Amino acid sequence: MLPIQEAFHLLKSPKKIFLTTHHKPDGDAIGSMLGIHLYLAKKGHKVTSVSPGEIPYFLEWIPGVPDMLNFEQHEKEALSALSAADLIICLDLNDFARTKYLETHLAAALQPKILIDHHLFPKDVWDYGWSLPSKSSTCEMVYDLICAMGDKHLLDLDIAACLYTGVMTDTGSFRFPVTTQSVHAMAGELIGMGLNHTRIHEEVYDSWSESRMKFLGYVLIERMEVFKKYNTALISLSRKDMNLFNVQNGDTEGMVNYPLSIANISFAALITERSDEVRMSFRSKGNFDVNTFARHYFDGGGHYNASGGKSKATFAETIDKFKQIITDNHPK
Ligand code: 5GP
Ligand code: MN
Repeated sequence: MLPIQEAFHLLKSPKKIFLTTHHKPDGDAIGSMLGIHLYLAKKGHKVTSVSPGEIPYFLEWIPGVPDMLNFEQHEKEALSALSAADLIICLDLNDFARTKYLETHLAAALQPKILIDHHLFPKDVWDYGWSLPSKSSTCEMVYDLICAMGDKHLLDLDIAACLYTGVMTDTGSFRFPVTTQSVHAMAGELIGMGLNHTRIHEEVYDSWSESRMKFLGYVLIERMEVFKKYNTALISLSRKDMNLFNVQNGDTEGMVNYPLSIANISFAALITERSDEVRMSFRSKGNFDVNTFARHYFDGGGHYNASGGKSKATFAETIDKFKQIITDNHPK
């Protein structure tokens, strides 16, 4: 993969650009895709943004969402935009497989492909890009890119709202170790432009339904197991649990973080029974590498302190496998 600067010449004249991000998109995925979308459109490009699937309710307010295509609902339109595109840009993912339904289409596409991402170990499938795991978020990288293109003056409040969202969500509201000086400097610039950051925080974190809040209470009492000896906690959610509370897309977001607020718990896992597979989320504090853990045992990956994976075994078997692994590995 060549450095992204070598792709700048491709953006000198108006182009048709196809943007996409990972399946089950989070604040950084949607914020970075729509932030760069609005910027590239301002530069005169014709841009199409495609989310592989539905987005969680707490991201629906983000500027640009109404024009974005959901691949599950608009497959034909999305695929014709892909084949008409001069250029493809992938955001916040390190492997075409992370787009789920778009994987084969991206792999078959012949146009130049650009990556902007901060996950570990990107696949060698992009022509140009930036893969910087030291960066807080893909949104911070899009901000850096706009600055590197000499276009800081093109930032506006809509682009700022997109980019602030991903930085805020991927840094756990500016508290994870990736929250460097450059993250605060960027946030300071955006707030200096007049960005209403309090509103963004409220849209994302204070917009729960009553049933989501009650579901959390139920989960913490009934579905969280703490393995003190192994500094580990597990939350497991069956389809029955989710049906009971009519759980909506996005309602389990962030749930995996709660056990890490227990003293001496440094590893938390969430196992969720989905219709086609069992999904897992992993989070850690300190020196437990959940990226390697997810890669090794659950066909996944991500970052050092936040990762995810999947299992083709049953829900119950996956829970047993997880317990067996922590018993053998003793996370600290
Ligand atoms: P989450 O638990 O929020 O779904 O994911 C946490 C992090 O791990 C995110 O950065 C996400 O991109 C990554 N991740 C989640 N699931 C997978 C997976 O199945 N494969 C890989 N490679 N990364 C994943
Ligand atoms: Mn991210």
